[in-house]
Amino acid sequence: MIESILIANRGEIARRIIRTCREMGIRTLAVYSDADREQPFVQEADLALRLGAAPPAQSYLNLEKLITLAVGNGVDAIHPGYGFLAENPALATACGENDLVFIGPSAEVIRSMGDKAEAKRKMEAGGVPVVPGYVGEDQDDGVLLEGARSIGFPVLLKAVAGGGGRGIRLVTEAGEFAAELESARREAGGAFGDERMMVEKFLEAPRHVEFQILADTQGNTLHLFERECSIQRRHQKIVEETPSPALDESLRARMAEAAVRAAHAIFYVGAGTVEFLVDNKGKFYFLEMNTRIQVEHPITEMTLGLDLVRLQIEIAEGHPLKLNQSELTPRGHAIECRLNAEDPARGFLPATGTLRDFEFPQGEGFRADAGFVPGGTIGPHYDSLLAKLIVWGGTREEALRRMSAMLSGCRVSGITSNLPFLQAVLDHPDFRSGDYSTAFVERHGENLTHFDPPPHQWRETLLAAAAIDAWREYRGAVPASNGGPALGESGGGAGGWSHLWNQPPARLNRRYTLAGKTIEVGIAVMPGADGGLDITATWEDVPHFARYRPSVRPVDPGPSPWPSFGEAGVLDLGEALLPIRWDAEGDRRWLTLRGRHIFFQAEDPALTTGRTPGGEEATERLRAPLPGKVLKLEVSEGDQVAPEQVLLVLEAMKMEHKVTAPFAGYVKRILFAEGDLVNRDDQLIEMEEEGKGEGE
Ligand code: ADP
Ligand code: ADP
Ligand code: MG
Repeated sequence: MIESILIANRGEIARRIIRTCREMGIRTLAVYSDADREQPFVQEADLALRLGAAPPAQSYLNLEKLITLAVGNGVDAIHPGYGFLAENPALATACGENDLVFIGPSAEVIRSMGDKAEAKRKMEAGGVPVVPGYVGEDQDDGVLLEGARSIGFPVLLKAVAGGGGRGIRLVTEAGEFAAELESARREAGGAFGDERMMVEKFLEAPRHVEFQILADTQGNTLHLFERECSIQRRHQKIVEETPSPALDESLRARMAEAAVRAAHAIFYVGAGTVEFLVDNKGKFYFLEMNTRIQVEHPITEMTLGLDLVRLQIEIAEGHPLKLNQSELTPRGHAIECRLNAEDPARGFLPATGTLRDFEFPQGEGFRADAGFVPGGTIGPHYDSLLAKLIVWGGTREEALRRMSAMLSGCRVSGITSNLPFLQAVLDHPDFRSGDYSTAFVERHGENLTHFDPPPHQWRETLLAAAAIDAWREYRGAVPASNGGPALGESGGGAGGWSHLWNQPPARLNRRYTLAGKTIEVGIAVMPGADGGLDITATWEDVPHFARYRPSVRPVDPGPSPWPSFGEAGVLDLGEALLPIRWDAEGDRRWLTLRGRHIFFQAEDPALTTGRTPGGEEATERLRAPLPGKVLKLEVSEGDQVAPEQVLLVLEAMKMEHKVTAPFAGYVKRILFAEGDLVNRDDQLIEMEEEGKGEGE
């Protein structure tokens, strides 16, 4: 019997494990880094103990400390979650040596499956089809290149110890091989402490379909059907669904059989996932096996009515599975969206910041597994997952509609997230039809990453933007005792503005940047009798009119113990009343209009004179998007460079980011050396645009 568990993880998965433990009457010991002291998983556990400083190496990867805490506090078992030490055989070994139950398979199985090359060799020997490629021990550059040549380009270079989509490089021709190899090795070394590479044939637009496996210590192995995970960016899943629209009954049965055979072949115990790629002819290939709970496990729980964490614990206790393969029948359809702190318009760069609003619709068929609560800070140390949004529906169509509703009802502000991107994916005809592949995001790129409203919605959107700024100035200027609205946290009006309201209309100017466009809007505002504002917003010499009336407070998604920063109001366009929700902080705006989330920037042109929007955006690219380290300088001062040429490689959040030239020109100044640490927004390089030099 397991009576207490140390959870060697953080965020949503730590909370998820605590939930099941509570239902099972198991006591939980959470461990946290200094960055996570205030996080909800720390407060929800029965006891929480400090691991160390924020960097993973000093906290969640500190194996010795974890074992000391587990032993010192007399817990029975350790649950590793996913990521961190979940696929490190040393944790399983250390548990064994200290009389602790490790909730997962044996160290030997973790080791052999964590080595992607060895896993492929084992599977091939067991008769499971694998992606063709080179998986040898010899890591000589020439041998790897020869491996690539023999299967033919394009190939993928893959870190043997990789995970989470990192350490993977597409190489389309032999000439690029050496450079990509160097960069992949560097990333793999940094992220996994292991530079070994393998080479795989790059399949064009395959689907990623994986099978959930459960195996007990008595040798019973079951599969819990598949999850379709082809919607990915940077080789990492973003949207998952089950069942897969790509499988017919016969293919499903053959893949399930192969997955169970794979697990059998290695005497697998616990919950695991066998990942496959499926080509457009219905041929499937083993990709890798994950020996842990998967991020997307909830969709399997929704269609089978099971609790996978509970099953993991019961297996670890040595109980035989009470389930029977023939009795397992999935019901309906489930979809998960990963809500990430990242900016799709900037290559899905991770975003940091503090959450202001953070709430999700609740109710029948909706589930949100979130790692944070409002006020939570997303720093540079851990991954960018904010929450998993999960829905169930009787049919795929119903699940799609519920997910669209769930996305619309989210309130997330204070941080840049992929919420608008997720909405664009859900609305896309290829996604709706089910006819998509892992090339989906690449193929539809701009359409997904830039909100581009139809013309009549441009008018609404800009009027809403003007209303937000008018309201912020108004509220900031009128003291509450005058019967005006109270000064709120987001009241943006500088004191100096109050004179504006002495002789209405008050006038202000804003420069809005959204959907890749920058538009200057002149705004005239008259306070109305009903506490609202009459607004005239002029852009491109045409005036547009609206009234804005704030709601007292947003009513749904229901009472919340957290302070709400967000505002709600009604935009009266004469012919239509449009409810809007919004939040603002500094120059950033989060707007929800017609159920769509729109992020944009607002600037006061008077405060930013002399900076042309194009130039501003261009030089923005020469700043550090995140705190990190300069890995490599690819140019020297005085160099002539072409647009998009790589200038510098930055390592941030364990990933490499290439800083490229925004235009043709020459490198004026390089402000950091290789190995230097940089802060977010630090200017890295100064460039002079061609034809714009002094004296020309
Ligand atoms: P899943 O495989 O469950 O769909 P991801 O691939 O997104 O999920 O990985 C989940 C988390 O686990 C991420 O934080 C990722 O960086 C981490 N991770 C996955 N595999 C490994 C590994 N082999 N080593 C270290 N971290 C890993
Ligand atoms: P990780 O351990 O990082 O999850 P995987 O080997 O599972 O790495 O690959 C991650 C993703 O990369 C896959 O889901 C798929 O989209 C893509 N991928 C991997 N191998 C190939 C391949 N040989 N051809 C095409 N795409 C691939
Ligand atoms: Mg994988």
